[in-house]
Amino acid sequence: MMGVDQRREDLDYSQTFICDLCGAYGRMNVFAVYSVLSLFFLPVWKWNRRYYVEMSCCHSLYELDYETGRGIENGTVSLIDEADLTLIRGNRSSYKRCGYCGYETEEDFAYCPKCGNRF
Ligand SMILES: [Zn+2]
Ligand SMILES: [Zn+2]
Repeated sequence: MMGVDQRREDLDYSQTFICDLCGAYGRMNVFAVYSVLSLFFLPVWKWNRRYYVEMSCCHSLYELDYETGRGIENGTVSLIDEADLTLIRGNRSSYKRCGYCGYETEEDFAYCPKCGNRF
C-alpha cells in the first residue's frame, strides 16, 4: 500500500494588511503545501514544500518566497514583505464591494444593484 498525496498545513501565523486587489483591510493566512509518500498510511517521505498566502478579504492567493516561508515556520521571520509575494489568483475582477452601502458581489456589475451608485 503506497500512495502519493498533496497535503496542506496551516501555519500559525497571520498578519493584517491592506489588500492590493480589493483595497480592504485583510488578514494574510499562511499555509504550506507538500507532497507526501505514504506507506501503509504512514508518511515516509515529504518533498516539494511550497508556501502560500491567502487573503481573508477576497481570497486572493499568493505564492510566498520559500526562504520567507521557512523563516515563518521556524519563527525567525515575523513580517511578510510585498516583495516576497507572487500573485497566483487575484479576485480583483470577480469581487466588488460598494463604497457607499457595503454591498458585496462577485458579478461584474458596473453599478451597485442595491443603492445604484457606481462601483
Ligand atoms: Zn482583498
Ligand atoms: Zn451600494
